[in-house]
Order: sequence, then C-alpha cells, then structure tokens
Amino acid sequence: MAIFFTEAPEVEEIAAQIVPTTHPHLTYAKMRYVFRSEHTKSQGREIWATANLLTGRTKFLSGGYDFLIDVAEDVWNTLSTEQKFALIDHELCHCVVGEKEAWAIQGHDIEEFTAIIDRHGLWSDAAKEFAAVVEERVWREIHGENRAD
Ligand SMILES: [Zn+2]
Repeated sequence: MAIFFTEAPEVEEIAAQIVPTTHPHLTYAKMRYVFRSEHTKSQGREIWATANLLTGRTKFLSGGYDFLIDVAEDVWNTLSTEQKFALIDHELCHCVVGEKEAWAIQGHDIEEFTAIIDRHGLWSDAAKEFAAVVEERVWREIHGENRAD
C-alpha cells in the first residue's frame, strides 16, 4: 500500500510542550511535524519516527522549514501518552545547533547490541554513562519517584 503523509497536530502539540523547557534552542527553528501512514523498516528494525534536516532544495520546497519530524501514524496510535512524549522528545534530541551555528542532526548517545553488553559488560564510556542513567532511573521507578520527568 502506498505511503501517504498528513498533518500531525497531536505531535505538534506535544512538541510545543517539550521545546520551551527541554529543547529551548528549537524555539528559533522552523519545525514541521507530519504523520506518515505506516512505519518503515531499516536494517531489520521498525522506524517509528525520523528527524530530518531540511536544506537547499527541500528547505525551499517546504516553505523554509529547518527540520521535518515524521511519525509513523500506525505506531503512534498504539502508544501511551508517556510513550508519545518520549518519542517526540527523542526526535527533538536529534535537532541541534552544529558547526558554524547551523542546524544539524545529532546521532544517538549510544549504538550498541544488548548481546554485547550481556557478554562483555560496560566496555565503553558510552555504555557506562547509559547504564548509570538506567540504574538511577530503575531505582527511582522502584521507589515511585516522579515517573514523568
Ligand atoms: Zn533516534
């Protein structure tokens, strides 16, 4: 079935709540949020959303937007409100100011296989930093401390 794109006001509303407090630099970016009708797959994994930097021709054709966030509507409709906030926060983390004060896309903090951590432990600084946050987060959830933030 053909993929089609539609407006995503619910995504935009969530982003509008997150940007001022968590991603204030994006107050100055022109952000576009759309739904794609179905998720895609890349390297065997489901892609729930993507953050895209618009430059040159695509920026011109979009009417001057700096970033395009597209969200798979089929996945979106299965997510809880907390998951929706987490997904949009995640995509907004990709949207940064890079070199020469230009908008840029930031990669993930960690790229790892669960099996590698299982076999080799926290072998990299990135894995150690990630694990420290996970450990603290799990402790807070066990003790019922402010799950939402
Ligand atoms: Zn990502």
